[in-house]
Amino acid sequence: MLSQVVELIESKQKFGITTHIKPDGDGVGSSLGLYWLLESLGKSAEVIVRGDVPIAYQNLPGADKIRDVASLDNSYDAVFVIECSDLERPGIDGLEKEFTVNIDHHATSAHFGTINWIDSTASAVGEMIYNLCKAIGGRVTREIAECVYMALVTDTGSFHFSNTTDRTLKVASELVKAGVKPAEVSEAVYNNYPWSRIELMRQVLDTVKRDESGTVASLRQTLEMREVAGAVDGDNNGFVNIPLSAREILAVVYMREVGPNEYRVSLRSKGDINVAGVAEKFGGGGHRNAAGLRVEGDWDEKESELVAAVREAVMRSSPDYISDVPNIA
Ligand code: 5GP
Ligand code: MN
Repeated sequence: MLSQVVELIESKQKFGITTHIKPDGDGVGSSLGLYWLLESLGKSAEVIVRGDVPIAYQNLPGADKIRDVASLDNSYDAVFVIECSDLERPGIDGLEKEFTVNIDHHATSAHFGTINWIDSTASAVGEMIYNLCKAIGGRVTREIAECVYMALVTDTGSFHFSNTTDRTLKVASELVKAGVKPAEVSEAVYNNYPWSRIELMRQVLDTVKRDESGTVASLRQTLEMREVAGAVDGDNNGFVNIPLSAREILAVVYMREVGPNEYRVSLRSKGDINVAGVAEKFGGGGHRNAAGLRVEGDWDEKESELVAAVREAVMRSSPDYISDVPNIA
């Protein structure tokens, strides 16, 4: 919990910080926000991430200092593991031997850390880093503010997902006061993709279809589509949300081919429809309205299983919510 994290930081000196492989804005923003907080407290800190930092986050303060590490090559008093459901998510060997601090906002998080601070009411881990800064008596520097704001804006879909609370907006307001320019962040995140994103989107949207209830949309992305588009990692950010813009659609299943008979799956839903439960059944996890998993097998078969499971979740949701949908009411 938070008090243990504060105590640890006060009593130790040298920290490692890591997040999941292929980090998102919350992973990178929260890790760097924590880095700047520790720096401002006179501690030594290092952010280590497996693989490249996505382009959208490369201009964050401190992003150039992030080290690409596949196995631990430095010693730390403790390693912060940000936004990870388990200790394998960072993809860094040797973490299991460390004193680890699990900081996460996923309700499904395994309590793998030596210390675990999980707050599933936080919109983003970034919100927790802000709270940590306040709890430890730190000043919200411009660097901390820019990194934490990135975490908030990306995990809340620019403050429009259901995880956005009054606290999220209050924190965002404080961050803007500390020097963040919201329009600049939005430009960097949303208007900064290569054209290959549009080429990929064209092909992926061509596969979109609805189930028999008309409420669950599914879409597919093949390795070939990526190749044809010349796509890079991150080009498909947000594709899964596109069908949700239709009133009739209550949930989405988006499958990406990642290898022979191997797929990464993103699930999204509206209102109280719980897709985290569906993801968990298939060995994944996430939040009520945004979850993910990995599956292997025949594409059509797996897609039908997932769509059926998601449709069940839709049916279990509040009757008020689905009564407007003629085909399933
Ligand atoms: P996305 O669809 O954007 O990849 O992931 C949505 C949410 O589900 C994220 O909060 C992410 O942490 C979680 N998630 C995605 N894939 C997995 C997975 O394989 N296992 C678990 N436990 N969570 C996942
Ligand atoms: Mn997050």
